[in-house]
Amino acid sequence: SIAAHGQGAALFTEWGPWQRALRAQFPLLAAHPELAYLDSAATGQKPQAVLDAVQGQLTDAHANAGRGSYPWANSSTALVERVRDRVKSFLGDPDPERSAVHFTSGTTEGLRLVARDWLAELLADGDEIVVPFADHEANLVPWLEAQRLLDRQGVRIRVREMPYQTSSGDYDPAALARLVGPRTRFVAATHVHHVYGGNMNVHLIRRAVGPAVPICLDAAQSVGHLPVSVAELDVDFVVFSGHKALALPGSGALWARQTRGPELRPGGWRGSPNTTGIASLAAALDWLEAAGTDRIGRWTVALAARLSDGLRHLDAYEVLGCQRSLAAEAPVQQRCGIVTFRHRDIGASDLGFILFSHGFMVRTDGHCQAGAGERTSSVRVSLHVYNTPEEIDRLLAVLASLT
Ligand code: PLP
Repeated sequence: SIAAHGQGAALFTEWGPWQRALRAQFPLLAAHPELAYLDSAATGQKPQAVLDAVQGQLTDAHANAGRGSYPWANSSTALVERVRDRVKSFLGDPDPERSAVHFTSGTTEGLRLVARDWLAELLADGDEIVVPFADHEANLVPWLEAQRLLDRQGVRIRVREMPYQTSSGDYDPAALARLVGPRTRFVAATHVHHVYGGNMNVHLIRRAVGPAVPICLDAAQSVGHLPVSVAELDVDFVVFSGHKALALPGSGALWARQTRGPELRPGGWRGSPNTTGIASLAAALDWLEAAGTDRIGRWTVALAARLSDGLRHLDAYEVLGCQRSLAAEAPVQQRCGIVTFRHRDIGASDLGFILFSHGFMVRTDGHCQAGAGERTSSVRVSLHVYNTPEEIDRLLAVLASLT
């Protein structure tokens, strides 16, 4: 059976007790053992510790932050400052004195802030930027908006496409190195692809672009899923969504190093901070760190490998993205917890309905991939630490019955 031969069997046995203890901390999942939540790339479920932090923030000392000077207001202001430091430490910031954290509603807003309030100020006529054209739309549209804004001011910049490897869908650092020239002022990249699940070689980008070019990382699919170290990656901006990292919807952060180029000073009217979301973010980061982001990454990779390996034996399915390049008989080298696939005859949304009738919640459509449209309509399974090999085996059994 698939279960007997499934990938990762030793890891699942060894880490089973660890994983079960963590899964038990998600009340919504505990209440619905008949359902399998397989859509964590869209948003994560929330552990009890995050729910407790939300309640605590609202019932212990709730007031607006950065304004009043009475105790509840001071406590909210202190919370916001404390969580800025928490985000820095979570990202392994080696120089917290020379970085800043801005709270956002998610990755989309964070990337827009970088584009509008930083990049647009930096660029001059004839400058070039390199951005991804086949990742999430949130990591393309803001850069094109900045280009249009500058265009209206008579400043012509050139937007170049980040080069991809055709075999795997990862970035091609050698081609990037050839693309970068004296007018390259900025590179935007995605850490983990939200459709293909590839870890996009971002650790090689700094070497490819040289020491001076600022790099902005869309870490929506990596923060909370695997270790993310700004020291190791040597990037200048890290943008992520709190809700995908097990915190509340409407929470997110933008980490900005202040050493390559001007400081990021978000302009416009910033309003009251989302103190409850910020409290939830701190609790989520604490929870993730205690659970171990490295282990979470290895667990979800093992689950994804089990799924893509199983799908490889089912002729009716095509798995999209980086696995395609691998030799037919080699086990799948899945690198992140996302697997996207299509059935030969059954459309993606029909397949989604069928899967939900068996209790599986998956994402179907084009997944907001830039330039994709209906052409790549597909089913995406995205995993977190609460998912189990039993869920994968049940899913594979249902998929096998549809061939
Ligand atoms: N970037 C990537 C890679 C994503 O996967 C997503 C969401 O799916 C986003 C950006 C946008 O995130 P949000 O909707 O939280 O702003």
